[in-house]
Amino acid sequence: MSQIAGKRSPFAPRRSFALDEPYCRSLNSPASIPFPCPITRFHSKPFTVILILKGGVTDEQVDHVIERVEAMGLQAHLSRGTFRTIVGIIGDESKIVVESVRSIPGVAQVVPVLPPYKLASREAHPESSVIDVGGVKIGGGHIGMIAGPCSVEEEDRMHRIAEQVAKAGANIFRGGAYKPRTSPYAFQGLGEAGLKRLREVGDAHAMPVVTEVTDPRLVELVAEYADMLQVGARNMQNFALLNEVGASQRPVLLKRGMSATVTDLLMCAEYILSKGNPNVVLCERGVKGFDPATRNLFDVAAVPLVQQLSHLPIIVDPSHATGKPELIPACAMAGLAAGADGVHVEVHDCPEVAKSDGPQALLPEQYAELASQLKSLATLLGKTISPLPEKTA
Ligand code: PEP
Ligand code: MN
Repeated sequence: MSQIAGKRSPFAPRRSFALDEPYCRSLNSPASIPFPCPITRFHSKPFTVILILKGGVTDEQVDHVIERVEAMGLQAHLSRGTFRTIVGIIGDESKIVVESVRSIPGVAQVVPVLPPYKLASREAHPESSVIDVGGVKIGGGHIGMIAGPCSVEEEDRMHRIAEQVAKAGANIFRGGAYKPRTSPYAFQGLGEAGLKRLREVGDAHAMPVVTEVTDPRLVELVAEYADMLQVGARNMQNFALLNEVGASQRPVLLKRGMSATVTDLLMCAEYILSKGNPNVVLCERGVKGFDPATRNLFDVAAVPLVQQLSHLPIIVDPSHATGKPELIPACAMAGLAAGADGVHVEVHDCPEVAKSDGPQALLPEQYAELASQLKSLATLLGKTISPLPEKTA
């Protein structure tokens, strides 16, 4: 039988209670709390971190753990069960250095109760965020339809593609002026000339524009031309870049890194939010898989998962996820059905001459067919595809 609070125990001087008794006693208050109760509610103040100690931990080790916690300016509450001993920590979580606590002899596991991404978490912000991209809303039932070529290319081609995707229902035009390429010999983008062209084409068709920024030193320049700054998969953990786009007020499209977990993605969003920019849209674009049959592995479950964990909108990019035009429509529909707040698709009117990612581009007429199916699905889901902003003279 294990000890219950108030009874004699080897830790009598310390206030303790049992994990496996039918009642547990709040240590600062005499009231009993019915068991089972959430472990974070053993005390009137919730635990911020729980330490699970090793089986066979000695009394001296337990005392040492508690001393260390208290030395950090935090309160420690000991719970001795038959099989497990835990220490619940109350107080400001930011005072806890997880690596140091994990190194204390006798500590088996450090379990944070709250997610490490505080600003991005749904707990911090229960309402879904709606992000305004140059007059087009994404999130909270508003669907963003981002379409355009991988790279900014010739002027007349850009106009043709923009006109066709806008007619099909796209509401944000895309094109990369700075391209992060695997090979240094591949086309690197048109640079500032490309930004200027993208802006002019967007304006001509009343479409807000999104383009990638690859370097913190370019954020100011790209923000002059673009309505939304894209941080690409290869740069998701470029923290200097995240800090810089966080200092800008332009909405950011943050793409999931190809080897990033959902927590990694949300921590990167946290960088941007913590610098004062609340306008973040996440993008699931596939992660590295083992099968070269598709370019990446489309993680559709990440969409509802992110929406449970975070208030930020998340869109899907079936172009980079699959790398195959014939798979894009099904994956785009799957993403929307899974709850995505938007769909990002690469479109080119002559993929064989595209400067980058031609093999995965949809033709404008294929995009039009997909957009019409997405629109029907959005209606079925009670969502709307945001209209293009009014053309300004
Ligand atoms: C792109 O959008 O063209 C791109 C390079 O995407 P990603 O960063 O997802 O590979
Ligand atoms: Mn691309």
